[in-house]
Amino acid sequence: MVQKTDKIWFDGKLVPWDEANVHVLTHTLHYGVGVFEGIRSYKTVDGKSAVFRLPEHVERLFDSAAIMEMKVPYSEDIVNKAIIETLTVNGLSEGYIRPLIFIGDGAMGVHPGKNPIRVAIATWAWGAYLGEEALRKGIRIKTSTFTRHHVNVMMTKAKVCGNYVNSVLAKVEALADGYDEALMLDTAGYVSEGSGENVFIVRKGIIKTPPLTSILAGITRETVIELARSLGYQVVEERFTRDEMYSADEAFFTGTAAELTPIREVDRRRIGKGEAGPVALNLQKEYFKVVTGANPDYAKYLTYYTV
Ligand code: PMP
Repeated sequence: MVQKTDKIWFDGKLVPWDEANVHVLTHTLHYGVGVFEGIRSYKTVDGKSAVFRLPEHVERLFDSAAIMEMKVPYSEDIVNKAIIETLTVNGLSEGYIRPLIFIGDGAMGVHPGKNPIRVAIATWAWGAYLGEEALRKGIRIKTSTFTRHHVNVMMTKAKVCGNYVNSVLAKVEALADGYDEALMLDTAGYVSEGSGENVFIVRKGIIKTPPLTSILAGITRETVIELARSLGYQVVEERFTRDEMYSADEAFFTGTAAELTPIREVDRRRIGKGEAGPVALNLQKEYFKVVTGANPDYAKYLTYYTV
């Protein structure tokens, strides 16, 4: 269960959590055209709180809306400020932020017509998405029987609600089969991403991640690439196959929710020693330094706020 907070920002106003409701004929509920973000804020080492890469997330939100031809009735600046206001009013010193832009009710039918574009921002406390143990010990994943979207079937650069039907299918299947997460292949059969994470492998010291085609342009992915290069690792963005994953020394997922989660097993095959690998754990340690303000080189990515 999500831990309720006091207020949700809804169409320009802060409303009580229980009153942030919609009509059942809300267009997005029927056809899935909505766009959203997942953002985290962290307590920083100096005792303050900061949102990690807030403007970049809001920019991706607006890019997603533009791809879907949704005209957002607020500016990026207003949404950035509204996120901080919501965190502050809820007294949330660290947590998860979920902005959602959706098509309201009015006309029915596939064409959204003149239905209103509505904006909601919810915030709540959320610990490790795949569990604390997952962060320390790594997870077991399986190749999904569901293929990731083709770039001309769904807009993979947009974080669209409807895109997540594919993710839900994969996640439910993976958990029902006794795994922690799904690994999805693209329509050409190459490794794509997790149900809500980007994926990396490490072999002979080289870090590899799929290029930005069928995958979401993850903000954690970008941060981890920048961080890894600055630490002297070689990182390549290149397609690879599932069998390359099987023979990797290490693998890991990245995402705002999943942070940097090592992968210890894929399709019953142990990756490396079958435990969280040293490169993944080192990058995870460095990533947590970045998001908590312990690495001054990345202060540019933090938006501080006071609760
Ligand atoms: N891929 C998918 C499908 C996702 O849902 C997410 C989570 N937003 C990611 C990758 C990782 O993106 P980010 O690092 O920006 O959270």
